[in-house]
Amino acid sequence: MKIDLKSLTIKKASDHLKKGDFSAVELTQAYHDEITKKNKDINAYLEVFDDALDAAKQADEKIADARKTRKEISPLAGIPCGVKDNILIKGKIASAASKILENYHATYDATVIKKLAANGAVFLGRTNMDEFAMGGSTENSAFGVTKNPYDLGRVAGGSSGGSAAAVAMDGALFALGSDTGGSIRQPASFCGVVGLKPTYGAVSRYGVMAMGSSLDQIGPIAKTASDAEIVFNAIKGNDLKDGTMIKDNTYTKKRIGKNKPVIGVPRHFLAGDGIDHEVLKAFNEAVDLFKAKGYEMKEIKLPNISYALMVYYIIMPAEVSSNLARFDGVKYGLRKNGKDGIDDYFETRRVGFGREVIRRILLGTYVLSSGYYDAYYNRANAVRRMITGDFLKAFESVDAIAMPTAPSPAFKIGEKASDPVAMYLEDIFTVTANLTGLPAISIPCGFAENSGKKLPVGLQLTARHGDESTLFETGKDFLGES
Ligand code: GLN
Repeated sequence: MKIDLKSLTIKKASDHLKKGDFSAVELTQAYHDEITKKNKDINAYLEVFDDALDAAKQADEKIADARKTRKEISPLAGIPCGVKDNILIKGKIASAASKILENYHATYDATVIKKLAANGAVFLGRTNMDEFAMGGSTENSAFGVTKNPYDLGRVAGGSSGGSAAAVAMDGALFALGSDTGGSIRQPASFCGVVGLKPTYGAVSRYGVMAMGSSLDQIGPIAKTASDAEIVFNAIKGNDLKDGTMIKDNTYTKKRIGKNKPVIGVPRHFLAGDGIDHEVLKAFNEAVDLFKAKGYEMKEIKLPNISYALMVYYIIMPAEVSSNLARFDGVKYGLRKNGKDGIDDYFETRRVGFGREVIRRILLGTYVLSSGYYDAYYNRANAVRRMITGDFLKAFESVDAIAMPTAPSPAFKIGEKASDPVAMYLEDIFTVTANLTGLPAISIPCGFAENSGKKLPVGLQLTARHGDESTLFETGKDFLGES
């Protein structure tokens, strides 16, 4: 059977593999060929693994065995995927798209990698990203920007731009990303695919390079909501190696909506002029579609949400400055020699880190310094609690909250690169899910016309802690998936 990558999903591929229409080796080869064809233009992958076919062969054996013994097999058996370059795979380079880790080889598998491998998934390669996941365009990668498959003059978003582009260019059936302030959802929205930031503590972070420890989560980028659900189910769950994990299956809260979830819309937050009118148009059409499908749409107020971006850009750099202290030229990766021991450290970091990473370390060190700690870090944490309170209050009358994922569609390469604040504003709708720990999904909701090109727009849905199922159910219904 000829493999049509364009229309393939995890669900369909898994059915074909089980029926024997094609093998995992053939499927992996098809992805390899597609990556070879497209990656030189798009730069979604930093490295394509040469052992993917061996893994596919093993998956084929598992599938054959399951067929013989009539055993259930994971829907991920034999499914090729990409992995963001800040997630460790034993023996492989994990550079976080930074010069400081250019030749660093991971010494163990991240828990998510172990789980996917146990399900029989096939790792195709490492996907590009903003250095240490800091950015919203993948322009901060030390190894070149990832281009948007819809328009090669535009960014794929970030920081998981490589993962989103890999899925959008038919270079993987899904990819893992990490999300600290929107890095799964915003690139998913720019590339017309689905991205899930799970509830804080739902997926183990053991083996992902920490950026903001109170914000980070690993999650899937896939073509459909059903596929994102399959991957989420495979990677979630307790892990003693991550002390921030929540207990699985604790979500019991009853829904407000009788048949379908009630969806809240914080109109007051969408009123400013910072939001592209084509994005707003697509969002409003999505609201109408929800109504047509029988959803109750309710206007809600989130009184402190306009502070979220400022709070994020205080707490995140503070955590970044602590987490990145470990890259000292001794423990991992690059080492440069200076005049003396302490100068080795400065020299290594000066040469090894890019400008944005240095900027955030400086900002973070500043907000944590003794004279400013109360004024910035402590106050930001207090406002963070207020924002969380706003959401919890809103969830007393709605089951999900809808917003655009990003205020604009994919922008031109270079358009925002020299203006950090313009870049930070990209995160205005996404950071709240990280500050509050709530799960949020981005699903494609149409296109924005821009200079004669159609660029994907994403709709973001946020739900209660632990209630990913509402996100999947609503996402599937909206996208017309069975
Ligand atoms: N764009 C955001 C930032 O630069 C989000 C990053 C992320 O989620 N890793 O901080």
